[in-house]
Amino acid sequence: MPNRPSPSRVALVATLVAVLCSCAGPGSAPAAAPTPSPAPAPPPTRAAAPASPAAARPGTFGLPPGATIVVDPGHNGRNGPGSGINRPVPDGRGGTKPCNTTGASAADGYPEHAFTWAVSQALADRLRARGYRVVLTRDSDDGVGPCVDVRGEAGAKARAAAVVSVHADGGPTSGHGFHVLYSAPPLNPAQRGPARSLADAVVTSMRGAGFTPATYIGRGGLDGRADIAGLNLATVPSALVECANLANPADAALARSPQGQQRLAEAIANALG
Ligand code: ZN
Repeated sequence: MPNRPSPSRVALVATLVAVLCSCAGPGSAPAAAPTPSPAPAPPPTRAAAPASPAAARPGTFGLPPGATIVVDPGHNGRNGPGSGINRPVPDGRGGTKPCNTTGASAADGYPEHAFTWAVSQALADRLRARGYRVVLTRDSDDGVGPCVDVRGEAGAKARAAAVVSVHADGGPTSGHGFHVLYSAPPLNPAQRGPARSLADAVVTSMRGAGFTPATYIGRGGLDGRADIAGLNLATVPSALVECANLANPADAALARSPQGQQRLAEAIANALG
């Protein structure tokens, strides 16, 4: 879920808990390109594989097999009172954000962290089957955090070609649909073009799979944002997908159904290459 400070959303989100899905985003390490060796030709590296337009399927981000992709399942199952997730961490634009949040939940209590975990597992399975190396920012749905700044460092640390954060929103009950967040205004070269291209590819794939762009936020499923710490800190192309609005009954039903989760994972996977 996001934290756009409109009064109605703030009120609603307050009941759902959290501030904003603080997630995603790679860190601020310098671009990590492997240093070429003059000696015997090294084996092809799978690190830091850039988007390759020449190899791209039209409308996708064009990552070749072998590229590393960080999948960031938003929030975590034990985030909550006493977990320490409220402590401030850098937000990437000179301020701070809470380390993490509990996330949104549906009216029946179905929590965002369970949704993001399920979709991320399905997404990781698909990406691995297609030859990508996948790094997850958490290894279970039964822990705390990590903080948004740590998630923000995950892309650079893994020398990833892309980072996709998976979330669900806690928007107005009457609103529905997905939206894809990217850092705007951009803070570095990865954010200046590639991150937007990644977000565009996810929107195109989601729409092509029959998902509806959000009716209550963003434009046509896209939402450039300056308030997402993980995206601000990203130094490799990063996007955050708010797959559905858990506050909306129809979206919640989609989000908690295994079929819906698989469809969402497939649409995101298809965007990458
Ligand atoms: Zn979230």
